[in-house]
Amino acid sequence: MTSKRIGIIGAGTAGLHLALYLQKHGVKTTIFTDRPSEDYRSMRLLNTVAHHAVTVQRETDLGVNFWPADKNGYFGHYYYVGTPEPLRFFGALETPSRAVDYRIYQPKLMDEYARRGGDLRITEIRHSDIADLSDSYDLLVVCTGKGPFGQMFKHQPAHSPFTQPQRALCVGLFKGIREPETRAVTMYFSPGAGEMIEIPTLSFGGMVNALVIENHIGGDLEILAKTKYDDNPRAFLDLLLEKLRKHYPTCAERIDEKEFDLANGPLDILQGGVTPTVRNSHVRLDNGKIALALGDVHAVVDPVLGQGANMASYAAFKLAEEILKNDVFDERFVEHVELARQDRVLGATRWTNFMLQHLQAGTPALLEFIGAISQNKPLADLFTTNFNYPERQWDCFASPERIKAWCSANLPGSASQAA
Ligand SMILES: Cc1cc2nc3c(=O)[nH]c(=O)nc-3n(C[C@H](O)[C@H](O)[C@H](O)COP(=O)(O)OP(=O)(O)OC[C@H]3O[C@@H](n4cnc5c(N)ncnc54)[C@H](O)[C@@H]3O)c2cc1C
Repeated sequence: MTSKRIGIIGAGTAGLHLALYLQKHGVKTTIFTDRPSEDYRSMRLLNTVAHHAVTVQRETDLGVNFWPADKNGYFGHYYYVGTPEPLRFFGALETPSRAVDYRIYQPKLMDEYARRGGDLRITEIRHSDIADLSDSYDLLVVCTGKGPFGQMFKHQPAHSPFTQPQRALCVGLFKGIREPETRAVTMYFSPGAGEMIEIPTLSFGGMVNALVIENHIGGDLEILAKTKYDDNPRAFLDLLLEKLRKHYPTCAERIDEKEFDLANGPLDILQGGVTPTVRNSHVRLDNGKIALALGDVHAVVDPVLGQGANMASYAAFKLAEEILKNDVFDERFVEHVELARQDRVLGATRWTNFMLQHLQAGTPALLEFIGAISQNKPLADLFTTNFNYPERQWDCFASPERIKAWCSANLPGSASQAA
């Protein structure tokens, strides 16, 4: 056991993966979080998070992979592009991904941390508490999610091109949607209207489907983010079915309309939007201690590509490694953390922001890319597996020249494939 003491505010994926890693390596941690594990069961849906294989592997390393992906996971992505001649194709994942309702996932990991002797304190932290709290720790890590608390870190305009949400979101867990032939995510694109991601998700009663409906602001689907289920459930479901038939027909055709509804009841829906934002990594507090931003506090992205929690987990591991290596928590330490995590985190934010903009605009280079991978299974497989590695996706999408180069370099028979 080292003498370092790390205070962690927030028991989301960022805080839990950090705390479990440090706990495993004998570093003393305390998690402060605002709700006890027993409250999660009765909460509104928090999000609909898919963990890619790289994150599932981190859970295995921490001994908290309670939902093995070969049993609970999914094996690829179907793609549906609603162009006049619709495109339909499949990309296989090298290793399965998996989505578990966070109202099950997070309390289970909180309990496991406490069961292993972790110091878990249930209390809502206010900004006025930070100074006193930091006196007791060598480093304070703030991972309270995308809410207002994280605004203590200055936002970075260079990496935050938007000042408002780019999609009007309507997100729910649904029953009554038949699984496709292979258990997989389906990514749907309706040019001019939006995108939808269907995710097989383990919830309280077993496997259900998350529909993450990403609606273009001002488009035909935006109404889904504004119509309240609670006002009239039947009217909401009828409206949703009508829009699914029009924009996402390959989902609509698998729906049993008599059974189709929110999976566990009226709390299974979320509506709103996310403003993609990157914030500074740290602040120096008045007592000289460092408070460090992690997870959504540091970088929050729109959920269209499923990157937020995966990069939060990655960044938690990178931070933990630096905590083990360093004895001094100063600006140089922060620099090490930034260097260790930034390619993945900035890769994910840039790629996600790129896709938000260019899917909506129908940029020719992106449409040609989708056309190319739809005709070529190895390219579709590689693009799908690279959801694990957003920095590789950004290597592909950072410029039109790169998009072309990626396609030719990865075609079977090309020089790099032969090497
Ligand atoms: C609809 C939707 C779908 C998504 N889909 C995906 C996906 O498929 N894949 C993916 O990787 N990501 C996805 N995300 C993003 C993902 O949910 C977040 O990136 C991830 O949960 C961030 O983890 P975090 O630990 O930083 O924050 P959170 O998970 O939000 O955790 C914050 C923690 O801080 C606590 N807290 C908050 N305020 C205080 C306070 N004042 N005092 C004490 N404790 C406090 C909270 O209770 C919680 O424990 C999605 C998000 C949304 C909204």
